[in-house]
Amino acid sequence: RGNAQQFEFQAEVSRLMDIIIHSLYSNKDIFLRELISNASDALDKIRFLSLTDKEVLGEGDNTKLEIQIKLDKEKRILSIRDRGIGMTKEDLIKNLGTIAKSGTSAFVEKMQTSGDLNLIGQFGVGFYSVYLVADNVEVISKHNDDKQHVWESKADGSFVVSEDTYNEPLGRGTEIRLHIREEAGEYLEESKLKELVKRYSEFINFPIYIWSTKEVDVEVAADEDDSSEEESSESSSSEEETEEDTEKSEQEDAEKKPKTKKVKETTNEWELLNDVKAIWLRNPKEVTEEEYAKFYQTLAKDFSEDKPLSWSHFTAEGDVEFKAVLFVPPKAPHDLYESYYNANKSNLKLYVRRVFISDEFDDLLPKYLNFLKGLVDSDTLPLNVSREMLQQHSSLKTIKKKLIRKALDMIRKLAEEDPDESNDKDKKDIEKSSDDDEKRGQYTRFWNEFGKSVKLGIIEDATNRNRLAKLLRFESTKSDGKLTSLDQYISRMKSGQKDIFYLTGTSKEQLENSPFLERLKKKGYEVIFFTDPVDEYLMQYLMDYEDKKFQNVSKEGLKLGKDSKDKELKESYKELTKWWKGALASENVDDVKLSNRLADTPCVVVTSKFGWSANMEKIMQSQTL
Ligand code: ADP
Ligand code: MG
Repeated sequence: RGNAQQFEFQAEVSRLMDIIIHSLYSNKDIFLRELISNASDALDKIRFLSLTDKEVLGEGDNTKLEIQIKLDKEKRILSIRDRGIGMTKEDLIKNLGTIAKSGTSAFVEKMQTSGDLNLIGQFGVGFYSVYLVADNVEVISKHNDDKQHVWESKADGSFVVSEDTYNEPLGRGTEIRLHIREEAGEYLEESKLKELVKRYSEFINFPIYIWSTKEVDVEVAADEDDSSEEESSESSSSEEETEEDTEKSEQEDAEKKPKTKKVKETTNEWELLNDVKAIWLRNPKEVTEEEYAKFYQTLAKDFSEDKPLSWSHFTAEGDVEFKAVLFVPPKAPHDLYESYYNANKSNLKLYVRRVFISDEFDDLLPKYLNFLKGLVDSDTLPLNVSREMLQQHSSLKTIKKKLIRKALDMIRKLAEEDPDESNDKDKKDIEKSSDDDEKRGQYTRFWNEFGKSVKLGIIEDATNRNRLAKLLRFESTKSDGKLTSLDQYISRMKSGQKDIFYLTGTSKEQLENSPFLERLKKKGYEVIFFTDPVDEYLMQYLMDYEDKKFQNVSKEGLKLGKDSKDKELKESYKELTKWWKGALASENVDDVKLSNRLADTPCVVVTSKFGWSANMEKIMQSQTL
């Protein structure tokens, strides 16, 4: 291997491998689904390229888009091979070691606290899980643009890449050879691998085969020096003699030499492990919850124990036809709101007529819905155009609009089905179903993970603002430590109350003691607490709800119903307010007014209707520092 070149792993990658190698994590199974997932991605890529250029597939076996698993018990090698896009020498060096992905350090950090290795795929470093079971790994790869190369590493901080002049040519694609560690022998058992493929990779859209070894009984002529008489006596050849006059020479041989014996012989054949059905093409009524949950895992590369919070599987008809499955994940990914405005990553996979096109279409869903995972498959879109052309296609607008609708419906239902969300006290008396228990608290879980996305939606999506406002949850002076909604607020409004009152600040505790609340509380008005920095922006966009205006109670304009004494009081304190205005320089205050919003506190500083609230001033200051 004269042309071998050695490379150091990028530092974070090296750390990650160290952690994996020394991990006491018991579920080592995960490596297989990560490899199969990579093989499937590579197959998706070549299939996509072949849409516009048939040549890329080559001919013969190279056109078979499949995954093959093989075992060599003696050499302790497990290999997984695909006929995907493959990797050039440069790809091998970059993708498997020298360029760390953004998720690498996040994952390393997580692992050092109490991380779950199971989540490795979500961080974009799933490949390295091979070192859970192997102490040496070879990646043999052939890309159309390069010669066949081998990448090899014993996870000792470095890897070697060399041109492959010694293995059998792959044609195209990648073969990963795992030299299985002493203590991981179970992964050399065919039955174990079959079980894992069934468990984790059922929804991979390419056929997965295993080179299956079967022992079969065959009847052979007994050797002359064979002393085992019992075996031959079991032979049925003597009975068959009379059955028919066969021309078969073996039969004649058997007749001549009635001494035969049964022996075990091993045969090998490719056995298909999955049926390649697209779950989204099936009738939703016939898909079980379990199947959706498993499909979600494969789609989102999220193999945590938690099931998705919700899903929506539907067919859109009309000018633009498509099928889609949308999922609300159980948890927000680690980087959901990081670089929110620059990141262009929708989590929807786009298929055209069952062919995977891209998971980087930025315009299938608005940014605020990027937390959803899912898939869209359209028959209306053209197949044989470039991704760029497709991105411009007019149907995408219609698809996007329908997806948003369905997504918001799905979230609304999460709330509607949650017994904890119900306002109606009588409902508690209705017999509880076990379904109820499962759904109890699901909207709070949703809100805690993705509430911020709803708020960003209100800011960004004027068309759906009202629908999104319905999904809003918050605490208030009357919510009793629980979350409440605008509809619930309105149902509790006092007669004669016109506006929805709210107050912004940094914490509920701070707001609860605010002098702005004194009078309102005394009079029994409910005030919403907004304590998230994004809430200040939110309230610049959310002007009204169900014909009711929002009123920040720390701002000018608070009306608490008419008081006949107001005019009288204003008159009698005229001189005093005038004096105060003169005493406080006019660059510091705009006006001094008699107020009916206070109870015990003698005076407060109020912001003007169109100015920033004190809280907003604070946020802006912290941002410019
Ligand atoms: P991810 O799959 O999330 O990108 P991985 O750590 O699993 O992260 O894989 C790293 C990269 O290595 C992939 O993005 C891909 O470029 C490359 N790769 C891994 N396996 C294969 C394969 N079987 N065929 C082609 N490329 C592969
Ligand atoms: Mg992967």
